[in-house]
Amino acid sequence: MSATTKVCPICKVEKSTDDYSIDKYRKDGLSARCRTCMATYWSAKRAAAKGDAPATPKAPKSTPKVAPDVESIATRDLGTDEAQAALATAADVAKRARMDAYNEQRRQARAAARLANQSV
Ligand SMILES: [Zn+2]
Repeated sequence: MSATTKVCPICKVEKSTDDYSIDKYRKDGLSARCRTCMATYWSAKRAAAKGDAPATPKAPKSTPKVAPDVESIATRDLGTDEAQAALATAADVAKRARMDAYNEQRRQARAAARLANQSV
């Protein structure tokens, strides 16, 4: 393996190519940004996406969770845009599941309130 380095255009640090994710669609086969900057980029993007979404209520306790480790492992091992896209899809599914759980909880709460009113 050739010991090459590449300067990340974001942090301007010259890093070993090991510090860049594989990106087969790019000329040099490596991501433009270093792994650190990619992680920052994606987390900022996720945060922005969350900020744009309409305010959602706090997820109920019964929420199915996406294991936090899955994301960091996938990013570390794959580090590709495809992996990020797959994770985004998974996050979307999880979000939908949370909303379903929330709606179900509200339904049950309303039913309980109705019963309480009737019995008093
Ligand atoms: Zn960088």
